[in-house]
Amino acid sequence: MRGLMQAQPLTTSSILEHAERCHGGQRIVSRMVEGPIHRCSYRELAARSRRLANALLSLGIAGDDVIGTLAWNGFRHVEAWYAVAGLGHVLHTINPRLAAGQLAYIINHAEDRAILADLSFVPLLESIADQLPGLRDVIIMTDREHMPATSLRSAHCYEELLEQSPASLHWPALPEDTASSLCYTSGTTGRPKGVLYSHRSTVVHALSVCTPNVMGLGMQSVVLPVVPMFHANAWGTIHAAPMAGSKLVLPGPSMDGKSLHELITGEEVDVAAAVPTVWQMFLQYLQDSNQRVDCLNRVMVAGSAVPRSMIEIFKRKYGVTVCHAWGMTELSPVGTINHPGPEERSMAEQEQLALRCKQGRFVYGVTARIVDDEQRELPWNGASAGHLQVRGPWIAASYYKETGDHLLDEDNFMDTGDIGTIDANGYLQITDRAKDLIKSGGEWISSVELEGHAMDHPDVALAAAIAIPDPKWDQRPILIVKLKQGHAAEAEDIREFVARRVARWQAPEWVTVTDEMPLTATGKISKLALRHRYSHPVQSVD
Ligand code: ADP
Repeated sequence: MRGLMQAQPLTTSSILEHAERCHGGQRIVSRMVEGPIHRCSYRELAARSRRLANALLSLGIAGDDVIGTLAWNGFRHVEAWYAVAGLGHVLHTINPRLAAGQLAYIINHAEDRAILADLSFVPLLESIADQLPGLRDVIIMTDREHMPATSLRSAHCYEELLEQSPASLHWPALPEDTASSLCYTSGTTGRPKGVLYSHRSTVVHALSVCTPNVMGLGMQSVVLPVVPMFHANAWGTIHAAPMAGSKLVLPGPSMDGKSLHELITGEEVDVAAAVPTVWQMFLQYLQDSNQRVDCLNRVMVAGSAVPRSMIEIFKRKYGVTVCHAWGMTELSPVGTINHPGPEERSMAEQEQLALRCKQGRFVYGVTARIVDDEQRELPWNGASAGHLQVRGPWIAASYYKETGDHLLDEDNFMDTGDIGTIDANGYLQITDRAKDLIKSGGEWISSVELEGHAMDHPDVALAAAIAIPDPKWDQRPILIVKLKQGHAAEAEDIREFVARRVARWQAPEWVTVTDEMPLTATGKISKLALRHRYSHPVQSVD
């Protein structure tokens, strides 16, 4: 028997319409590329998104056209998201931190018909324009006054287009499985691959992000996604905040400690999201400038493992709860998040802290399992480590245009490429990426664990463990660290500090201190670059 409920499609335009009608006065605050702070309401966002949609139609955008954005987190970028997807086209968020060759590759692979670009990225686009044969229009996201002289053909001024376009438009009724947006993985482990989200996956994911066990957003929340809209959809906040009626605060291009602190205290942000390297800088700023962040209640931290010291310092010194999360571009991106559960009430503080360092519980909608090399399922006992596999309504089934590359096995699970344990309460702990594991004397050594210990050293700002070839043991771990500003620990001190915390055979062979840690386009340490740099080890402390 079939249910008798309405089959109303879940589309992103329904979020915008809801925000306009029910939270019309709620604010969006953006630090603009041009400098000043800009304020508008969800009512204005909805009207301007309709104007932009009309402008896009007048440029001849139609059918399955893909429209790229090269932009920071700001109100115009939000308008672009809703306008393009609302019309039924595909919004492609391009990561401007990619190398020029990779940028051209993904723009051509996605077949971007037009690109909306912030002023900051006009020179970048100019430098690769001759490699982009399919690109017809560029819309520069600024007003007439700031419009630059440009060699780009068919460059339009965003605000001029909006002025010339009417604000009336009925969003088309779209099947909910229509593609809404496209985001390429940053290529940390190889060639970038496109994840093509649907309206349904986006809306269902945003509903989950609002819930208390994920970000816990409501009308009283003030949300700051520092994580860029071009990195895994700013973790769902751009759809979740209007859905919940939360105030949305957008940092634009300024993600340094001082700018973030100004924005957080000035706008009374209570929940903010960013990768660990950003929070590391932020904590350093708070410490150096002796500032407080009393309004900030919790920070969402994901993208790579959160060091224990970060969780401790945020809580003890600033009263801020760190919610450690795990996700992937392929998961829209939320997979797990760490909030204290009822079973922790009777736990000692140190035990609770150890639990906070894990990546957290799977959110409803993400079904998970861990398997061994032979695909046998492993128990959830917190000790058995295996390949993490997931399935659910906001998880990719295949990559864009990679027809031979199906992601799913016969049970519809996707292998994440991560290795982890899951405990009896459903807490995931990532121990490694499959290709980052270090195999020494037939035993696996977790690079994440070594990095975590190194990061607990008071002088260490960033740490990466990689394998180097070893004639006797096959591989041995080494540690590369970057020190905090003004700190001067010796490499050997750090090696001993880590060695005291692990089994003897797991201790790093040697530690090297570097001033320049290579980062990927999503702000993670690039192990690819480090492996290249240290493939012929020359530096040793012992
Ligand atoms: P990229 O491959 O470009 O880095 P993502 O940004 O989608 O793409 O990164 C997803 C990967 O980041 C995960 O598969 C995992 O390896 C890593 N990751 C994400 N969150 C965490 C976390 N909290 N702890 C450890 N690793 C994480």
